[in-house]
Amino acid sequence: MSFGGKEVKRIYMDNNATTAVRSEVLEAMLPFYKEQFGNPSSIHWAGQAVSGAVDSARGQVAQLINCQPEEIIFTSCGSEGNALAIKGSAEFLRSKGNHIITTAVEHPAVLNSCKYLEKQGFEVTVLAVDSEGMIDLAELEAAICEQTILISAMWGNNETGTLFPVAEIGAIARKHKVRFHTDAVQAVGRVPVDVQAAGVDMLTISGHKFGAPKGVGALYVRKGMGLTPLFHGGHQERNRRAGTHNVPGIVGLGVACELAITDLAEQDGRIRALRDRLEQGILSRIPEVQVNGHRLQRLPNTLNISFAYIEGEAILLFLDMKGVAASSGSACMSDSFGQSHVIGAMGVDPMMANSNIRFGLGLDNTEEDVDFILEILPEIIQKLRDMSPFYSERAAS
Ligand SMILES: *Cc1c(COP(=O)(O)O)cnc(C)c1O
Repeated sequence: MSFGGKEVKRIYMDNNATTAVRSEVLEAMLPFYKEQFGNPSSIHWAGQAVSGAVDSARGQVAQLINCQPEEIIFTSCGSEGNALAIKGSAEFLRSKGNHIITTAVEHPAVLNSCKYLEKQGFEVTVLAVDSEGMIDLAELEAAICEQTILISAMWGNNETGTLFPVAEIGAIARKHKVRFHTDAVQAVGRVPVDVQAAGVDMLTISGHKFGAPKGVGALYVRKGMGLTPLFHGGHQERNRRAGTHNVPGIVGLGVACELAITDLAEQDGRIRALRDRLEQGILSRIPEVQVNGHRLQRLPNTLNISFAYIEGEAILLFLDMKGVAASSGSACMSDSFGQSHVIGAMGVDPMMANSNIRFGLGLDNTEEDVDFILEILPEIIQKLRDMSPFYSERAAS
């Protein structure tokens, strides 16, 4: 791209916010906008051609997470999946109890659904996390009581990449006969996700986080688990999610799931190696930095890192001028103090919490991208530190 007469690179490292639609996905979707436009609920030829495509997408999603196709409900996004799982379960199970357990670092779609339910008379326990963003399983088990109907704990954190011990949470939930929902929006396509092995009862997927388009997602609901729908209408999705199917999106989600099965090795190999190269490169070139999140239990593509004395958003602006797209916890996820609720919950020192940025690597990233960032970042950080009153105070003392 030309910018002020100069060629500027474009490096996208914000794949935890959204990903590009993959070519194979787009190609599979296109016929369903025009030639195969039918409504899959129609019994005539136009509908039937399309309902087969929805069925096979359902099979592709089910295969990726190891469940039955009829256990998949197509939704419009991850936020809808989380709301349907949490509000739908709470309402359905109300006569059994009114207590829900979640964690302090969940996505707003989970936390705000729980907040809404609190206003409706439910009790919510929000588990704290340690400095690496990890929950304490003993604390989780101790929080379960007679009234507990649901545990909602995410698989992989969108800001830090910290991976919760989902199988252990599942075992605790099962032992106490409590329903277990996990927001796996960041995990699907990046780490192996198996709902049987993990003992998960409900699991949220969002297409646009792994190469499918925006506006489509899925919720896995274990067979036999009742759910009150969010909205009422037609009989689609076994009466749990009314509304005409987003056929192109669903077809795209199916293909993305199929591709994800073979991509897992690349995520664990090449992407992890690139992330580690970026992390090690920053740590060795720039003093007074801190990696946020769990050292080992972490998504392979995510690096959340703080640079003392300066603001994360300022770093992002300077990176953007060089064509690098990253993000900061303090942008759209911010609470009223302008600080990420995730980083805040980890007890990170406020100055470090405001200076964090997140790199979310994706399949399109190369070693060249990482090396370019390692080349420009030390200068950006030093320039910002030279302007920072905190830095000069620290230098003076
Ligand atoms: C992006 C995200 C969501 C929301 O998904 P949408 O499809 O954008 O609504 C939920 N949970 C996590 C962990 C996410 O990263």
